[in-house]
Amino acid sequence: KVKENGKNDCLFYSEDWSNSSMARLTLQHEMYRAIQRKEFVLMYQPQYDLATGAIIGAEALVRWNHPERGIVSPSEFISLAEESGMIVQIGDWVLEEACRQNKEWQDSGLPPIPISVNLSLRQFMQRDLAARIAAILDHTGLEPKYLDLEITESMTMDLAHVARCLVELTNLGVGISVDDFGTGYSSFHYLKNFPIDRLKIDRSFVRDIQQDPSDAEIVAAIIAMAHSLDIQVIAEGVETEAQMAFLKHHNCDEMQGYYWSPPVSSRNIEQLLSA
Ligand code: C2E
Ligand code: MG
Ligand code: MG
Ligand code: MG
Repeated sequence: KVKENGKNDCLFYSEDWSNSSMARLTLQHEMYRAIQRKEFVLMYQPQYDLATGAIIGAEALVRWNHPERGIVSPSEFISLAEESGMIVQIGDWVLEEACRQNKEWQDSGLPPIPISVNLSLRQFMQRDLAARIAAILDHTGLEPKYLDLEITESMTMDLAHVARCLVELTNLGVGISVDDFGTGYSSFHYLKNFPIDRLKIDRSFVRDIQQDPSDAEIVAAIIAMAHSLDIQVIAEGVETEAQMAFLKHHNCDEMQGYYWSPPVSSRNIEQLLSA
C-alpha cells in the first residue's frame, strides 16, 4: 500500500519496505547515511525488582530518527539491517552509546544499574565479538558488570561457536540474558551447558497468563526450572496488575513492561533513577 503525504515526499511506509525491492534499496542507502549522520537514538526501558519495586536495570532499545519518516521502530529496520550486514555498524554504535551513557549516569552520581543491549545474530557470530566489547568497555570506562547482553535462542545454531563466545563474554564479566525465552528451541541444552545469567520470558506467554491456563503453567514452570539451575528470571511485556501479581506469586525475580514504564528517553531514566 502506498500512502500519499503532503508534508514530505516519502511514499513507502513500514511493511511496504519489506515487500518492494526498490523501497528496500532506498532504505538500505538511507540506513548507511543514518550511521554517519547520527540519526539513531536509544530509548531505555526500566527493569524492576518484583519484590521491592526498585529499578535494577534498563534495556537499551534503538530508534531511528529519520529526517522525513520520523521515529522508525526497530521492527521496521533491524531485519533489513541484518540482511545487508549494516547491523554490525548499528550494533557497535548501540553498544558504544549504551556504555557511554551508563558511565555518564554513574559519574553523575546516579545509583549504578546494568544496561541490557540486544545483540543480533550477525553481531553474535563475529569471531572477535568479545574483543570488540572489551575495547568498548575499556574506552568508555564502564565496568563489565554494568553491561548485560541479550541473545536469543535462534542464535544457538553453531553450538561450538556459541559455547566459546559465551565463555569469552562471561570471562570479561558482562551478564548474559536469553531474550524472548520460550519462542525458540534447544533451550535445555544451552541452559545446562552455557553460562546464562538470566532468562527473559517472552511477552507472548505473559500476555495471556490470566486467560490461558497453559500459558500460566508454562510461565510458572520456566521460573521454577530457571531457579533450580540458579538462573534469574525477568518477565517481558507485563501490562497489568494481575499479571504482576501472578509473577510475584510464582517468585519471578524481575519485570519489564508498560505496567510500570514503557521505553523512555535517557533524560527520563535520570529522573526515575534519582527519584
Ligand atoms: P525485545 O528485545 O524483546 O524488546 C522488547 C520490546 O517489547 C520493545 O519493543 C519494547 O518496547 C516492547 N515492550 C516492552 N514492554 C512492553 C509491554 O508491556 N507491552 C508491549 N506490547 N510491548 C512491550 P521495541 O523497542 O519496538 O523493539 C522490538 C525489538 O527490536 C526488540 O525486542 C529487539 O529484538 C529489537 N531491537 C531493539 N533494539 C535493538 C538493538 O539495539 N539491536 C538489535 N539487534 N535489536 C534491537
Ligand atoms: Mg531485548
Ligand atoms: Mg528480541
Ligand atoms: Mg524480548
